[in-house]
Amino acid sequence: MKVIDNIEELKKEIKALNGSIGLVPTMGALHDGHKSLIEKSVSENNNTVVSIFVNPIQFCAGEDLDKYPRTLEADLKLCKDAGVEIVFTPTPEIMYEGDKNNLTLICPPYAAVDKLCGKSRPGHFDGVCSVVAKLFNLTKANKAYFGQKDAQQLFIIKKMVKDLNFDIEIVPCPIVREQDGLALSSRNKYLDTEERQIALNISKALKLAQSDYKKGIATKRSIVDNTLKLLEQMDVEYIEFVDDNNFEFVDALDDKTRVLIAARTPNSNTRLIDNILLK
Ligand code: AMP
Repeated sequence: MKVIDNIEELKKEIKALNGSIGLVPTMGALHDGHKSLIEKSVSENNNTVVSIFVNPIQFCAGEDLDKYPRTLEADLKLCKDAGVEIVFTPTPEIMYEGDKNNLTLICPPYAAVDKLCGKSRPGHFDGVCSVVAKLFNLTKANKAYFGQKDAQQLFIIKKMVKDLNFDIEIVPCPIVREQDGLALSSRNKYLDTEERQIALNISKALKLAQSDYKKGIATKRSIVDNTLKLLEQMDVEYIEFVDDNNFEFVDALDDKTRVLIAARTPNSNTRLIDNILLK
Protein backbone atom coordinates (compact mmCIF):
# COMPACT_ATOMS: atom_id res chain seq x y z
CA MET A 1 0.00 0.00 0.00
CA LYS A 2 1.33 3.41 -0.98
CA VAL A 3 0.73 6.41 1.29
CA ILE A 4 0.95 9.57 -0.78
CA ASP A 5 0.70 13.15 0.42
CA ASN A 6 1.34 15.12 -2.77
CA ILE A 7 -0.42 15.57 -6.06
CA GLU A 8 2.42 14.86 -8.49
CA GLU A 9 3.18 11.49 -6.95
CA LEU A 10 -0.51 10.61 -6.78
CA LYS A 11 -0.90 11.33 -10.50
CA LYS A 12 2.14 9.17 -11.28
CA GLU A 13 0.94 6.24 -9.16
CA ILE A 14 -2.60 6.46 -10.55
CA LYS A 15 -1.18 6.26 -14.07
CA ALA A 16 0.78 3.14 -13.11
CA LEU A 17 -2.31 1.25 -11.87
CA ASN A 18 -3.81 -1.51 -13.97
CA GLY A 19 -7.55 -2.05 -14.13
CA SER A 20 -10.48 -0.34 -12.47
CA ILE A 21 -10.18 2.19 -9.65
CA GLY A 22 -12.56 2.63 -6.72
CA LEU A 23 -12.36 5.79 -4.61
CA VAL A 24 -13.45 6.16 -0.99
CA PRO A 25 -13.26 9.81 0.14
CA THR A 26 -13.03 10.22 3.92
CA MET A 27 -11.95 12.67 6.61
CA GLY A 28 -10.18 9.90 8.53
CA ALA A 29 -10.77 8.69 12.10
CA LEU A 30 -11.90 5.59 10.26
CA HIS A 31 -14.48 3.26 11.81
CA ASP A 32 -16.51 0.29 10.64
CA GLY A 33 -18.75 2.56 8.56
CA HIS A 34 -15.78 3.71 6.48
CA LYS A 35 -14.48 0.13 6.47
CA SER A 36 -17.68 -1.11 4.84
CA LEU A 37 -17.21 1.40 1.98
CA ILE A 38 -13.56 0.42 1.60
CA GLU A 39 -14.34 -3.30 1.58
CA LYS A 40 -17.07 -2.80 -1.01
CA SER A 41 -14.64 -0.89 -3.21
CA VAL A 42 -11.94 -3.56 -2.80
CA SER A 43 -14.46 -6.26 -3.76
CA GLU A 44 -15.64 -4.37 -6.87
CA ASN A 45 -12.42 -2.89 -8.27
CA ASN A 46 -8.88 -3.89 -9.18
CA ASN A 47 -7.58 -0.94 -7.16
CA THR A 48 -8.91 1.08 -4.26
CA VAL A 49 -7.81 4.60 -3.38
CA VAL A 50 -8.82 6.01 0.01
CA SER A 51 -8.43 9.72 0.64
CA ILE A 52 -7.99 10.96 4.19
CA PHE A 53 -8.40 14.71 4.27
CA VAL A 54 -10.07 16.92 6.87
CA ASN A 55 -11.30 19.39 4.31
CA PRO A 56 -11.20 22.91 5.79
CA ILE A 57 -13.48 24.45 3.18
CA GLN A 58 -16.42 22.27 4.21
CA PHE A 59 -16.27 23.48 7.83
CA CYS A 60 -18.12 26.65 8.76
CA ALA A 61 -16.93 29.25 11.25
CA GLY A 62 -17.23 27.94 14.81
CA GLU A 63 -17.29 24.27 13.77
CA ASP A 64 -14.93 21.54 14.97
CA LEU A 65 -12.20 21.75 12.27
CA ASP A 66 -9.35 22.07 14.77
CA LYS A 67 -10.49 19.38 17.16
CA TYR A 68 -11.77 16.94 14.50
CA PRO A 69 -10.31 13.53 15.48
CA ARG A 70 -7.15 12.55 13.62
CA THR A 71 -5.97 8.93 13.95
CA LEU A 72 -3.72 8.44 10.92
CA GLU A 73 -1.73 5.46 12.14
CA ALA A 74 -4.81 3.38 12.93
CA ASP A 75 -6.46 4.55 9.69
CA LEU A 76 -3.52 3.32 7.63
CA LYS A 77 -3.62 -0.07 9.34
CA LEU A 78 -7.35 -0.40 8.59
CA CYS A 79 -6.71 0.47 4.93
CA LYS A 80 -3.78 -1.93 4.64
CA ASP A 81 -5.72 -4.80 6.23
CA ALA A 82 -8.62 -4.14 3.84
CA GLY A 83 -6.37 -4.41 0.77
CA VAL A 84 -6.19 -0.74 -0.31
CA GLU A 85 -3.61 0.18 -2.99
CA ILE A 86 -3.24 3.92 -2.34
CA VAL A 87 -4.03 6.17 0.61
CA PHE A 88 -3.95 9.86 -0.28
CA THR A 89 -3.25 12.09 2.74
CA PRO A 90 -2.70 15.66 1.51
CA THR A 91 -2.47 18.73 3.74
CA PRO A 92 -4.78 21.67 3.00
CA GLU A 93 -1.72 23.55 1.67
CA ILE A 94 -1.09 20.82 -0.88
CA MET A 95 -4.74 20.34 -1.78
CA TYR A 96 -5.41 24.06 -2.24
CA GLU A 97 -1.88 25.22 -3.13
CA GLY A 98 -1.73 27.43 -0.08
CA ASP A 99 -4.79 29.56 -0.78
CA LYS A 100 -8.11 28.13 0.24
CA ASN A 101 -9.82 31.51 -0.05
CA ASN A 102 -9.20 31.97 -3.75
CA LEU A 103 -10.59 28.82 -5.30
CA THR A 104 -12.89 27.85 -8.12
CA LEU A 105 -15.77 26.18 -6.30
CA ILE A 106 -18.60 23.92 -7.31
CA CYS A 107 -21.92 25.20 -5.98
CA PRO A 108 -24.82 22.77 -5.94
CA PRO A 109 -28.23 24.32 -6.66
CA TYR A 110 -29.95 26.38 -4.01
CA ALA A 111 -32.91 23.98 -3.88
CA ALA A 112 -30.60 21.13 -2.85
CA VAL A 113 -28.61 23.00 -0.21
CA ASP A 114 -31.15 25.38 1.33
CA LYS A 115 -32.53 22.69 3.62
CA LEU A 116 -31.49 20.09 6.17
CA CYS A 117 -27.73 20.25 6.87
CA GLY A 118 -27.12 22.95 4.24
CA LYS A 119 -29.38 25.36 6.07
CA SER A 120 -27.26 25.48 9.23
CA ARG A 121 -23.95 24.94 7.45
CA PRO A 122 -23.70 27.65 4.77
CA GLY A 123 -21.09 26.78 2.15
CA HIS A 124 -20.65 23.26 3.51
CA PHE A 125 -21.81 21.48 0.35
CA ASP A 126 -19.79 23.83 -1.89
CA GLY A 127 -16.74 22.66 0.04
CA VAL A 128 -17.77 19.01 -0.18
CA CYS A 129 -18.49 19.10 -3.92
CA SER A 130 -15.31 21.03 -4.70
CA VAL A 131 -13.02 18.61 -2.88
CA VAL A 132 -14.85 15.56 -4.22
CA ALA A 133 -14.58 16.90 -7.79
CA LYS A 134 -10.83 17.37 -7.29
CA LEU A 135 -10.53 13.81 -5.98
CA PHE A 136 -12.49 12.47 -8.96
CA ASN A 137 -10.13 14.28 -11.35
CA LEU A 138 -6.97 13.26 -9.50
CA THR A 139 -7.78 9.58 -9.05
CA LYS A 140 -9.62 9.01 -12.34
CA ALA A 141 -11.77 6.57 -10.38
CA ASN A 142 -14.40 4.47 -12.14
CA LYS A 143 -16.53 4.24 -9.03
CA ALA A 144 -16.77 6.23 -5.80
CA TYR A 145 -18.35 5.03 -2.57
CA PHE A 146 -20.47 7.20 -0.28
CA GLY A 147 -22.47 6.33 2.85
CA GLN A 148 -26.21 6.84 3.19
CA LYS A 149 -25.44 8.18 6.66
CA ASP A 150 -24.84 11.49 4.87
CA ALA A 151 -27.93 11.15 2.71
CA GLN A 152 -28.13 14.78 1.59
CA GLN A 153 -24.43 14.70 0.66
CA LEU A 154 -24.98 11.52 -1.36
CA PHE A 155 -27.92 13.10 -3.19
CA ILE A 156 -25.91 16.26 -3.96
CA ILE A 157 -22.86 14.31 -5.18
CA LYS A 158 -25.05 12.20 -7.48
CA LYS A 159 -26.59 15.40 -8.84
CA MET A 160 -23.17 16.97 -9.39
CA VAL A 161 -21.99 13.89 -11.29
CA LYS A 162 -25.08 13.99 -13.50
CA ASP A 163 -25.14 17.77 -14.03
CA LEU A 164 -21.41 18.05 -14.78
CA ASN A 165 -21.13 14.74 -16.71
CA PHE A 166 -18.44 13.22 -14.54
CA ASP A 167 -17.58 9.79 -15.92
CA ILE A 168 -17.89 7.98 -12.61
CA GLU A 169 -20.40 5.70 -10.92
CA ILE A 170 -21.55 6.70 -7.44
CA VAL A 171 -22.15 3.68 -5.22
CA PRO A 172 -24.41 4.30 -2.21
CA CYS A 173 -23.56 2.23 0.88
CA PRO A 174 -25.90 1.40 3.79
CA ILE A 175 -25.52 2.98 7.23
CA VAL A 176 -23.37 0.91 9.60
CA ARG A 177 -24.56 0.99 13.21
CA GLU A 178 -23.35 -0.18 16.60
CA GLN A 179 -25.20 -3.20 17.90
CA ASP A 180 -27.61 -1.01 19.86
CA GLY A 181 -28.42 1.10 16.78
CA LEU A 182 -26.17 4.17 17.16
CA ALA A 183 -24.94 5.18 13.71
CA LEU A 184 -21.16 5.06 13.56
CA SER A 185 -19.59 8.49 13.22
CA SER A 186 -16.12 9.90 13.78
CA ARG A 187 -17.82 12.50 16.00
CA ASN A 188 -19.04 9.77 18.40
CA LYS A 189 -15.53 10.09 19.88
CA TYR A 190 -16.71 13.35 21.49
CA LEU A 191 -19.42 11.54 23.51
CA ASP A 192 -19.00 10.30 27.07
CA THR A 193 -21.08 7.35 28.32
CA GLU A 194 -23.98 9.55 29.40
CA GLU A 195 -24.13 11.48 26.15
CA ARG A 196 -23.85 8.31 24.14
CA GLN A 197 -26.99 7.01 25.88
CA ILE A 198 -28.77 10.26 25.04
CA ALA A 199 -27.57 10.15 21.42
CA LEU A 200 -28.86 6.60 21.06
CA ASN A 201 -32.37 8.06 21.07
CA ILE A 202 -31.84 9.41 17.55
CA SER A 203 -31.67 5.91 16.08
CA LYS A 204 -34.44 4.76 18.44
CA ALA A 205 -36.70 7.52 17.11
CA LEU A 206 -35.94 6.55 13.51
CA LYS A 207 -36.56 2.85 14.19
CA LEU A 208 -39.86 3.74 15.87
CA ALA A 209 -40.86 5.87 12.88
CA GLN A 210 -40.14 2.96 10.56
CA SER A 211 -41.98 0.37 12.64
CA ASP A 212 -45.02 2.67 13.07
CA TYR A 213 -45.01 3.26 9.30
CA LYS A 214 -44.90 -0.48 8.65
CA LYS A 215 -47.82 -0.98 11.06
CA GLY A 216 -49.74 1.70 9.16
CA ILE A 217 -50.05 4.00 12.19
CA ALA A 218 -47.44 6.65 11.36
CA THR A 219 -48.10 10.23 10.27
CA LYS A 220 -45.60 13.05 10.00
CA ARG A 221 -47.19 14.55 13.14
CA SER A 222 -46.92 11.32 15.16
CA ILE A 223 -43.29 10.82 14.12
CA VAL A 224 -42.34 14.39 15.01
CA ASP A 225 -44.13 14.14 18.38
CA ASN A 226 -42.54 10.80 19.28
CA THR A 227 -39.10 12.00 18.16
CA LEU A 228 -39.24 15.24 20.13
CA LYS A 229 -40.27 13.25 23.21
CA LEU A 230 -37.37 10.81 22.79
CA LEU A 231 -34.93 13.65 22.08
CA GLU A 232 -36.06 16.02 24.81
CA GLN A 233 -32.54 16.11 26.27
CA MET A 234 -31.06 17.11 22.93
CA ASP A 235 -31.16 20.27 20.89
CA VAL A 236 -33.03 19.11 17.78
CA GLU A 237 -31.94 21.03 14.68
CA TYR A 238 -34.35 19.32 12.32
CA ILE A 239 -36.58 16.35 11.80
CA GLU A 240 -37.60 16.28 8.15
CA PHE A 241 -39.22 14.04 5.56
CA VAL A 242 -38.01 13.88 1.95
CA ASP A 243 -38.67 11.82 -1.15
CA ASP A 244 -35.51 9.75 -1.45
CA ASN A 245 -35.47 10.14 -5.24
CA ASN A 246 -35.38 13.94 -5.43
CA PHE A 247 -34.83 15.08 -1.83
CA GLU A 248 -37.91 17.28 -1.93
CA PHE A 249 -39.96 17.64 1.23
CA VAL A 250 -43.07 15.46 1.26
CA ASP A 251 -46.49 15.99 2.82
CA ALA A 252 -47.52 12.34 3.02
CA LEU A 253 -45.45 9.31 3.95
CA ASP A 254 -44.77 6.47 1.51
CA ASP A 255 -42.14 3.81 0.79
CA LYS A 256 -39.79 6.41 -0.72
CA THR A 257 -39.87 8.67 2.33
CA ARG A 258 -36.58 9.21 4.11
CA VAL A 259 -36.78 10.63 7.64
CA LEU A 260 -33.74 12.69 8.63
CA ILE A 261 -32.69 14.03 12.01
CA ALA A 262 -29.92 16.38 13.15
CA ALA A 263 -29.51 17.04 16.85
CA ARG A 264 -26.90 18.25 19.31
CA THR A 265 -25.93 16.58 22.57
CA PRO A 266 -26.38 18.59 25.78
CA ASN A 267 -22.82 18.67 27.20
CA SER A 268 -20.28 18.45 24.39
CA ASN A 269 -22.67 20.08 21.89
CA THR A 270 -21.82 17.38 19.36
CA ARG A 271 -23.89 17.64 16.20
CA LEU A 272 -25.08 14.20 15.11
CA ILE A 273 -27.08 13.19 12.04
CA ASP A 274 -28.91 10.01 11.13
CA ASN A 275 -31.72 8.95 8.82
CA ILE A 276 -33.85 6.03 7.73
CA LEU A 277 -35.88 5.04 4.67
CA LEU A 278 -39.36 4.18 5.95
CA LYS A 279 -39.82 1.12 3.75
P1 AMP B 1 -16.50 11.21 6.68
O1 AMP B 1 -15.16 10.70 7.03
O2 AMP B 1 -17.39 11.45 7.87
O3 AMP B 1 -16.46 12.38 5.72
O4 AMP B 1 -17.23 10.04 5.89
C1 AMP B 1 -16.65 9.47 4.75
C2 AMP B 1 -17.67 8.56 4.11
O5 AMP B 1 -18.04 7.52 5.02
C3 AMP B 1 -18.96 9.29 3.71
O6 AMP B 1 -19.39 8.81 2.46
C4 AMP B 1 -19.91 8.89 4.82
O7 AMP B 1 -21.27 8.90 4.42
C5 AMP B 1 -19.44 7.48 5.11
N1 AMP B 1 -19.87 7.07 6.44
C6 AMP B 1 -19.64 7.71 7.62
N2 AMP B 1 -20.25 7.05 8.64
C7 AMP B 1 -20.88 5.99 8.09
C8 AMP B 1 -21.69 4.93 8.61
N3 AMP B 1 -21.98 4.85 9.90
N4 AMP B 1 -22.17 4.02 7.75
C9 AMP B 1 -21.89 4.09 6.42
N5 AMP B 1 -21.14 5.06 5.87
C10 AMP B 1 -20.64 6.00 6.68
